[in-house]
Amino acid sequence: MEITRVETFALERELDERFANAQKWRDSRSYCLVRVTTADGTTGWGECWGPIAGNREIVEEIVAPWLVGRDVRDVERIHDDLREKLRMGFHTCDPSGVVSAVDTALWDALGKARGESVARLLGARRRDDVRAYATGGFFRDVDGFEEQCDLITDEARAHVDAGFDALKMKVGFARFFPWGPDEDVELVRRVRDAVGDDVTLFVDANWAYDVATAERVGRALADADVRFFEEPVPPQQLDAYERLTASLDVPVAGGECWAYADEFGRVLDRGAVDYVQPDVTSAGGPTSMRRIAAAAADAGVQTHPHVFGTGVALAASLQVLATVPGTPLLEFDRTPNPIRDELVTDPVTNDGDTVAVPDGPGLGVTVDEDVLAEFSR
Ligand SMILES: [Mg+2]
Repeated sequence: MEITRVETFALERELDERFANAQKWRDSRSYCLVRVTTADGTTGWGECWGPIAGNREIVEEIVAPWLVGRDVRDVERIHDDLREKLRMGFHTCDPSGVVSAVDTALWDALGKARGESVARLLGARRRDDVRAYATGGFFRDVDGFEEQCDLITDEARAHVDAGFDALKMKVGFARFFPWGPDEDVELVRRVRDAVGDDVTLFVDANWAYDVATAERVGRALADADVRFFEEPVPPQQLDAYERLTASLDVPVAGGECWAYADEFGRVLDRGAVDYVQPDVTSAGGPTSMRRIAAAAADAGVQTHPHVFGTGVALAASLQVLATVPGTPLLEFDRTPNPIRDELVTDPVTNDGDTVAVPDGPGLGVTVDEDVLAEFSR
């Protein structure tokens, strides 16, 4: 199964309405996808986390010439060799999104060649469907606090009406709005009042706080029966995570900005979070996701993967989710995103709070070449 070609595809689509989390406004959704082709014409798809610029050049100029001629069946060895090669070149700026996309594409190609899903190849398809929570509640581009709250609470109710019994919302107004942690907490209270006590609520701060503010907000979130407090502080501040996890009643979650089993291992060794959230497009692809989820399970920590990409990332996440020990949840991004909804011919949809895991070969989805061309820039 010799690899004969490695290509990148830069996709972008402007959004009708921009939205923000605590750190950035999003005016568009853009992605760098990777396609690997083997000598017999089998293809596999993967997706890089992060900007197109950088990911695309590294794949085309460094990875492609190195990968052509290698054997897809060596997927785990290639994962480790590629990580080592990029670490030598980029030191701590190791582009884990590239390793993730290549690893995902190789698993997809191997599954297609063997007629089996990636979850089957990983040897642990533990479930046919997964519980999903709706991710949304991003900040809108409006000036008034009341209007902001109304838009977000209306959206939360719509997710419940669509069948979800678990939701994730954002906090951390201060960077872009004239409001602070008190208004963050007030927003959570209003969403809790809007959806009622039976809905599971998660809150994501995207590193909005210092540790003292996170302590204060976290206590209020526990009072609102929030079930995890995601990325309260910046991902490099493991001392702060450890302190918050020890002191707060609300469970602390994190991991979308960490990569590979060794980095997650350092987090787990310190007991720095209650839940880990690796992303298949940035943590090192299915190879690393499996290792991370296994290490977390050994530490008694549930893995709830982070998912915020195209139909390729979503499909890869579902294959991984099928294998994760315990009771993992799918993060089902409900923000408007035509690239997520239209890129694959058999898009992933929810049936109430449940999403089925495809069991077709590879990732179980097919990229629509016409749509690919339409979104390519
Ligand atoms: Mg997050």
